Amino acid sequence: MLIDVAACCEHHTNEALEHLHKAIGDGDPDLIWDKHPSPLIEALVELFSSRGLLRLDAVRRAVLKWQSGAKFDSGLVPPVRPDGLMARWSSDEKELMRLYLQSLPPAQWTLDDHMMSIDLVVQDYLPADAMQTEAEWLAVRAGMMGKVQANLEKEPTPVQADKILRAMPSTVSGAVQQFGIGGRFRQALDFARVRAVENVRALADDVRHRMRSVVTQDLEERAYGAPPPGTPALESKLLDAMGTLNRDWRRIAITEAGNALNEGLIASLVPGARVKRIEQYRGACPFCRKIDGVVVEVVDANDPDKDGETQIWPGKNNLKRSASPFKRVGGKLVPREPSELWWIPTGLAHPNCRGRWSVVDDGSRPGDDPDFAAKLREILGTK
Ligand SMILES: [Zn+2]
Repeated sequence: MLIDVAACCEHHTNEALEHLHKAIGDGDPDLIWDKHPSPLIEALVELFSSRGLLRLDAVRRAVLKWQSGAKFDSGLVPPVRPDGLMARWSSDEKELMRLYLQSLPPAQWTLDDHMMSIDLVVQDYLPADAMQTEAEWLAVRAGMMGKVQANLEKEPTPVQADKILRAMPSTVSGAVQQFGIGGRFRQALDFARVRAVENVRALADDVRHRMRSVVTQDLEERAYGAPPPGTPALESKLLDAMGTLNRDWRRIAITEAGNALNEGLIASLVPGARVKRIEQYRGACPFCRKIDGVVVEVVDANDPDKDGETQIWPGKNNLKRSASPFKRVGGKLVPREPSELWWIPTGLAHPNCRGRWSVVDDGSRPGDDPDFAAKLREILGTK
């Protein structure tokens, strides 16, 4: 199949190439629902996913309930309409909004009232503080499991992994308190936390935006008489929108946990340790299949002579690097320099990637924290 991009400018051609190559990496979207291949974070990813999906489903059902008039209470006297600007409402403000909306049937709502009902639902089911807690919990536990991996002689069984996971803190400050973490590991944990919180927050904003768009479009379709035959009901439009949001949530679970695990592991290994990349799961992209089994050496990020081909270090990633082997320069397609291309990253190669590391065993425990290793043996009852 050939695509003629000659009419495109250089900038857009390169963007399109990048997008296409990343799309190849995404593969079959349904495969993201497979269990995560690392026993260290498999349970964590499932738990974070299912809790998020329950929240999203609660949003969908509540939006529908408001729109259908099921919440209308004819016995209520409408209070003065509260100002409906999206900020974080206090609980008193929320209750006033709720009372106002309940006191009127949706047929009497203004368009702004419809939007306010959605803001209320989003603040009820995706409250900012709870979302932040959820994201930090995912990132910190996954990062801690990286430290666990570095300080255990053998990969834990699922039962052992579960036992350890339960004993791990769910906040960075908890990790400092419980295990006295610091240095590059603490740094890795902080980056993982901030990134996870940021992505979860962006998704909550997106939920609000999409719900508002779907309901507005539905109202508009019905605002000028009967809609054309075959127009789907609001219920099925909301279900469609949720399908996409569910996958976005799952992507956060896989990507944030996977990155935190890998960065946590590498930040907990002594320089000179060797690790092997594992990219074995259904739907691994061509790039990841190529790096499967590659053994690299862990080096200090400050090492001036580090070699991206054979070495990794904390924070080595593919940001600003390209998935496309070619770029357009003027009217020509030319190969990209190796320095512009994806290389073996410490974390994931791309969103939804399920790559991980195994420590190449030379008989010694490669982790840098004997106290932590002792605590792990305590948790496992093997001291
Ligand atoms: Zn990949």
